[in-house]
Amino acid sequence: MPPPTLLYYLPMAPSISLFKSRDVAVIGAGAAGLVAARELRREGHKVVVFERERQVGGTWVYTPTVETDPLGSDPSRHIVHSSLYASLRTNLPREVMGFLDYPFVSTGEPHRDPRRFPGHREVSLYLKDFAVGFGLNELIRFETEVVYAGLVEDEKWGVKSRSGNDAAIDVEEIFDAVVVCNGHYTEPRLAEIPGIDAWPGKHMHSHNYRIPEPFRDQVVVLIGGAASAVDISMDIAQVAKAVHIASRSVEAGILKKLSGNAIDNMWLHPMIESVQKDGTVIFYDGSVVLADVILHCTGYKYHFPFLDTSGIVTVDDNRVGPLYKHIFPPHLAPGLSFVGLLWKVLPFPMFEFQSKWIAGALSGRIGLPSQEEMMADVSAFYLSLEASDTPKHYTHNLADSQFEYDDWLALECGIPGVEEWRKKMYEATAKNRKVRPDKYRDEWEDEDLMLEAQKDFARCRPNGAGDN
Ligand code: FAD
Repeated sequence: MPPPTLLYYLPMAPSISLFKSRDVAVIGAGAAGLVAARELRREGHKVVVFERERQVGGTWVYTPTVETDPLGSDPSRHIVHSSLYASLRTNLPREVMGFLDYPFVSTGEPHRDPRRFPGHREVSLYLKDFAVGFGLNELIRFETEVVYAGLVEDEKWGVKSRSGNDAAIDVEEIFDAVVVCNGHYTEPRLAEIPGIDAWPGKHMHSHNYRIPEPFRDQVVVLIGGAASAVDISMDIAQVAKAVHIASRSVEAGILKKLSGNAIDNMWLHPMIESVQKDGTVIFYDGSVVLADVILHCTGYKYHFPFLDTSGIVTVDDNRVGPLYKHIFPPHLAPGLSFVGLLWKVLPFPMFEFQSKWIAGALSGRIGLPSQEEMMADVSAFYLSLEASDTPKHYTHNLADSQFEYDDWLALECGIPGVEEWRKKMYEATAKNRKVRPDKYRDEWEDEDLMLEAQKDFARCRPNGAGDN
């Protein structure tokens, strides 16, 4: 019999008196900030979470509101945090998505979404439950934006915040450490398109896409090939005259008509070569389309407008660095850390491992290598990216080694790593998504793994909560 995984779910019980309790500021109360707050408090730290919005959940709090600048490039625009569209269902099954000791299972309540790949509201409610279950709301200052976080003398961090109640007054406080959990799906990254300034059509980023209706009977060119590009193109194709997808993964010379169940108005192209004053869009395969809208589903940029590290941490071509294991800047560790920078991963469990490591490093229970050793590790990592021709903006894409990374963190923390069923289910879902891009959320073949997950969940205490 394999050893019971129950041990895994027991809260860490460090003899806190031996270790330091720090004053820690957490920026953001999305999934990353919530689990960071829980782990920091479990370790004995004093935690204040700053959250700009009036509720927890970050990205998962859907709003029909969009920004005044549809491209999201005007720095003076009013920022809308979430990029979710109304029809969004998770692209991961709920079993793998949830926190390790707080399974994302259906509650069975009538107002909840029991589906395996639920709609966004269900995720937002799960995160709310998590916050209530672990008493995290009392740590959070809602409607309070961090406008500045910077190193002051004696390894202390100054944090200036602005509350919604009194936007004119900045409150300044000192902390021992800052954990940055501000998310990275808000600041749009745009494709460069020759001729765009004179192109007469509408031009927007998926950050400001919510519902298909405004695209009724229009010809839409959508740039991008990632999960949300696929979802949004299918959403819009239900009402649009035609949807033309321009993707890097399509070779020049190929113009392919996509056909699905009810969808026969979608076309696949290589990237856009240029756009013209007469409204046409020219692709690299020479095909030409007269379009009404160009929709960039081209991803996002890391953005830390509040953070002052005197140049120690920079964002260069979407590489945040230098960071040891994508978390600690070697020269500022453990006082400054980042949770959740990685992408193409299982986010919530990874946030949990990262947070446990940060909490332990701050108390001194877990040792970090010397600054020189951490810098050497970062340099070796960058060299390995160069050697494999990985572009700089893929630095935080951990697709192929995420479980190795999680397991490394777990080892540092002295806890078991990712469950085997979770790894296998993640892989099974990825395969299923390829085979059934339009149906993977409702048809699957990994029932055996679902059973394993349920058995594991049954061994957790109800909702895993109560062990602040
Ligand atoms: P966020 O959820 O973005 O939270 C950041 C928080 O920080 C926000 O509440 C924000 O208000 C706050 N904040 C920002 N700046 C400040 C400031 N200066 N002061 C105070 N507060 C601040 N993940 C999955 O697991 N499954 C999926 O199916 C999935 N689908 C996705 C679909 C889309 C379209 C997108 C964009 C993401 C998806 N993700 C999915 C990834 C998702 O982003 C993560 O699951 C997770 O929600 C990220 O959490 P976070 O806490 O890092 O960031």
